[in-house]
Amino acid sequence: MNKNIIELQTLLERTSSLIRAENRQALQQHGLLSVQLEALYYLSQCNRYSDTPMAVTEYLGQTKGTVSQTLKVLEKKQLIVKHKDTHDKRIAHIQVTTAGESLVKQLMPSKLMTSIGNTDVSPIITQLSNLLVQLQHQHGSKMFGQCLNCQYNQTIDQTHYHCQLTNELLLKEETLLICREFTEK
Ligand code: SF4
Repeated sequence: MNKNIIELQTLLERTSSLIRAENRQALQQHGLLSVQLEALYYLSQCNRYSDTPMAVTEYLGQTKGTVSQTLKVLEKKQLIVKHKDTHDKRIAHIQVTTAGESLVKQLMPSKLMTSIGNTDVSPIITQLSNLLVQLQHQHGSKMFGQCLNCQYNQTIDQTHYHCQLTNELLLKEETLLICREFTEK
């Protein structure tokens, strides 16, 4: 038994529990659950290839039923709106409304995380990102990385990029979003 790995797992779980507990209190005021905030936050950060119910399901690692209920609640609260794909009417895209964006800004990061102040968290982010990539490889799950760092991202000029997978033009602001088709360089 590797004690370091158990300790790492315990630390990750306890950190996550603390953040969720604090978020739960803040979310109660808005009648939302943690999973609903996670979905809303994801949708506020993802690109146009990743804003579907299926992508939310893959990202959250939840069942289709749970995600469907989650999206219904967010829609009812007018935090998201759905619209049909222009080419394939069977596909629904989800957009975060202005009220949804404002709620995300209000709740992310959580007050608890903000309390760590000016501590340089870059080394922790790098190490945890590497760990996540390793675990995603092991698990065979999609990586959902930032478009700018994808192997299919080709720079055209300072404001325009090209996605070699979809063969479509990308604007600079789109390259900062996360994508379900992200592939490591
Ligand atoms: S370049 Fe990669 S991350 Fe960006 S849109 Fe294309 S597949 Fe997605």
